[in-house]
Amino acid sequence: MHIVVCIKQVPDSAQIRVHPVTNTIMRQGVPAIVNPYDLYAIEEALRLKDRCHGRVTVLSMGPPQAETALRKAISFGADEAVLLTDRSFAGADTLATSYALAAAIGKINEELPVDLVFTGKQTIDGDTAQVGPGIAKRLGLELLTYVSQIDALDLERREIVVRRRAEGGVQVLKTRLPALITMLEGTNEVRFATMANMFRAARYDLKVWSKEDAGITDATKIGLKGSPTVVAKVFAPQPRSKPAELVGNETSSPQDLAVNLITTLFARHPNLESQFAKNAGVSP
Ligand SMILES: Cc1cc2nc3c(=O)[nH]c(=O)nc-3n(C[C@H](O)[C@H](O)[C@H](O)COP(=O)(O)OP(=O)(O)OC[C@H]3O[C@@H](n4cnc5c(N)ncnc54)[C@H](O)[C@@H]3O)c2cc1C
Repeated sequence: MHIVVCIKQVPDSAQIRVHPVTNTIMRQGVPAIVNPYDLYAIEEALRLKDRCHGRVTVLSMGPPQAETALRKAISFGADEAVLLTDRSFAGADTLATSYALAAAIGKINEELPVDLVFTGKQTIDGDTAQVGPGIAKRLGLELLTYVSQIDALDLERREIVVRRRAEGGVQVLKTRLPALITMLEGTNEVRFATMANMFRAARYDLKVWSKEDAGITDATKIGLKGSPTVVAKVFAPQPRSKPAELVGNETSSPQDLAVNLITTLFARHPNLESQFAKNAGVSP
């Protein structure tokens, strides 16, 4: 059983401030952390490793500093870590990121076949939730998104059963390996590093791969060149000029709330009532 977990180092968004005059994000001095969603993916992979005596490889594409995130995963109990770092990866959008990560997983697979790939549901900086599905598509893996629990894993039949959060309920899905799982937040309790693993993490000889090491020959598919997405503007939302108003209290019935809301809206927008009436074909 070989599991690859993709982890991204992100700025700690809880400590990001927006410049009051320029409205730009102030990143200076903001500590880098492992993307919080990815911690649940690491923990789930380690639990499967404990159950099935497998191996866990963590993989990150990022600048040399992303090594810290990988060492943290080793301190939790991951076996191997690969840092995909190359100047030509800079400026990657989700298309280019998933291409590079898929290529690296392909290389890892050549050394030891990969049964499962984990990613977090999304990151807290880019927030797109596209990288996991992108990797699965490129590698032809079965895709299981928004997974909250792994119910069963049958290595002989090469099948996995998971619970997936869906709108209005939970889906129980069975599929075959190899598969890619995007892991939901809050699904497990991330373990503490043991002293032995912390020492191992400090001494661990990280695998640092360039694009060539990952078998990437087409430089037009990575980094800025391989990224059709352009982020035109990043801005802080304008703070509300007025605080929110209550249209009822805890004893109000749904009908009372609806009447209060409509009356408040009509009072605030004088033309609204006649417009509604006109559309409905009745006199106000
Ligand atoms: C403010 C902002 C807005 C952006 N908007 C866009 C946009 O609209 N479209 C776009 O294409 N890009 C956008 N980007 C760029 C985006 O950060 C990168 O494309 C990034 O490489 C992956 O996208 P993501 O962070 O949304 O990852 P997601 O798809 O949210 O990540 C899902 C999971 O994939 C894995 N993963 C993601 N990146 C890596 C990595 N580098 N190494 C290892 N595992 C990884 C992690 O397990 C993660 O939990 C934006 C970046 C910023 C800072």
